[in-house]
Amino acid sequence: MNEWKRLVYVLLILSCILFISLNTYVYYLTIETSSNVTYLKKETKKLNDLKEENKKLLEKKNNIEKDVQKSDEENKKIESEISTLEKEIKDLESKVNSLNKQNSSKTVYFTFDDGPSPRTEEILNILDKYHVKATFFVTNQSDQYNYLIKRMYDEGHTIGLHTYSHNYKEIYASEDAYFNDLKAIQDKVYNITGMRPVLIRFPGGSSNTVSRFNPGIMSRLTKLVEERGFYYYDWNVDSGDAAGYNEEAQMNMIYTYSPKHDVINLLMHDSTYKYATVNSLESKIKYYLDNGYTIAPLDSSSPGMHHMVNN
Ligand SMILES: [Zn+2]
Repeated sequence: MNEWKRLVYVLLILSCILFISLNTYVYYLTIETSSNVTYLKKETKKLNDLKEENKKLLEKKNNIEKDVQKSDEENKKIESEISTLEKEIKDLESKVNSLNKQNSSKTVYFTFDDGPSPRTEEILNILDKYHVKATFFVTNQSDQYNYLIKRMYDEGHTIGLHTYSHNYKEIYASEDAYFNDLKAIQDKVYNITGMRPVLIRFPGGSSNTVSRFNPGIMSRLTKLVEERGFYYYDWNVDSGDAAGYNEEAQMNMIYTYSPKHDVINLLMHDSTYKYATVNSLESKIKYYLDNGYTIAPLDSSSPGMHHMVNN
């Protein structure tokens, strides 16, 4: 019996030892597994994070590609706008060039006041010889010169009005007096030519001081004539013939003052005693043609060359 007991004890002890060993093993196994699980969890989380980050990066990449495409389109649009603008600039430059050309084309308007007279016929012959047209600001002279007014008209010269009487005291006495006188010369030209001139030149010019016996009359008239549909012309080069300059003195005036202007309104007179004006006319024509000027008759679009009004 004792033997059996001993055996049982031994077996019991052995089984205890086995049990403890097994437990210990299981315990360590569990610990290791748990550490592995934690590690795996960590790694899985890292992987997920990386995936997320990758997704974000892909999204960013797509957005950037979209932006690039968008900016490509915008670039194309801007390029097309630039090319349109460049074309517009070219067009404008060509317009500016053409305007500059027009502006640089030199023009002289020959204007004759106080006729008609026998000198007018001589002047018309010279103008005809050179095929140039001028402007005559006529007054009422003898009816025997009416045919000269008709000839001016027929030959394509411009007929302007210089008043009927050219009498300062009468015409500048009042606005009504001026316009009545102007109407008289307009009617006269109309009866001869069938045309009513609206281009005018004030006797003495708009800057005259001879009218100061009626203060302010020129300030009023210069406004009124335009309101009533007339165009008034002064001048910017004076031949000096009103002061009695001879041929040489007139040419000196022209040589001195013409180079200052590309557009010239040249003041001359075709009244009876202006022989020097007639005698120097060919020299004047040649001078301007040689210097690149076009000799033209005035029309309502020509520059008025208005003086400063002094009354
Ligand atoms: Zn005059």
